[in-house]
Amino acid sequence: MKIRIEDITEEGLTLDVVEEGAALTAVAGSLDFTIPGQVKARLEITKTGADVFVRGSLDAALGFVCGRCLKAFEQKSGGAFNLFFTREAEKAREKELHAGDMDVNLLEGAEFDTSEMLLAQLSLDAPMKPLCNADCKGLCPKCGEELNAGPCKCPQASTPDKRFAKLKDFKVR
Ligand SMILES: [Zn+2]
Ligand SMILES: [Zn+2]
Repeated sequence: MKIRIEDITEEGLTLDVVEEGAALTAVAGSLDFTIPGQVKARLEITKTGADVFVRGSLDAALGFVCGRCLKAFEQKSGGAFNLFFTREAEKAREKELHAGDMDVNLLEGAEFDTSEMLLAQLSLDAPMKPLCNADCKGLCPKCGEELNAGPCKCPQASTPDKRFAKLKDFKVR
């Protein structure tokens, strides 16, 4: 949804936005995740002079592929976020220094796109290395079997690697 800066009144705007995940990802190009369902957000938008402040909360489920076992899984994403938009590069730089957990953006043009805003927030929230579970055991490097359900049939490495044999004699004083 596009919002014209001009249309933001003194009292501000409160928007409840519901976007189809598929429609959002379609405009995004390449992403490291999918959005199987809907993205719901509440945006409270206020304007001070030419600056725009957005207080938002976001609720969505993102689809990932586990980096260890390659299984697809979903994870909740969202929470609260704060965004500040200004047209002045100098002000943006200054704000950034004291921003805390607020995102500072340079505002270009007469409107901004809530779809882009939500996508940016979801991307920020997405893990760099998604794991279905922090303890995921992944796949056996030999047979490729998933090890979360139990050990595979490969012989267990009982003979220690010779390269590390010497380490056994090494003691920390
Ligand atoms: Zn996994
Ligand atoms: Zn195996």
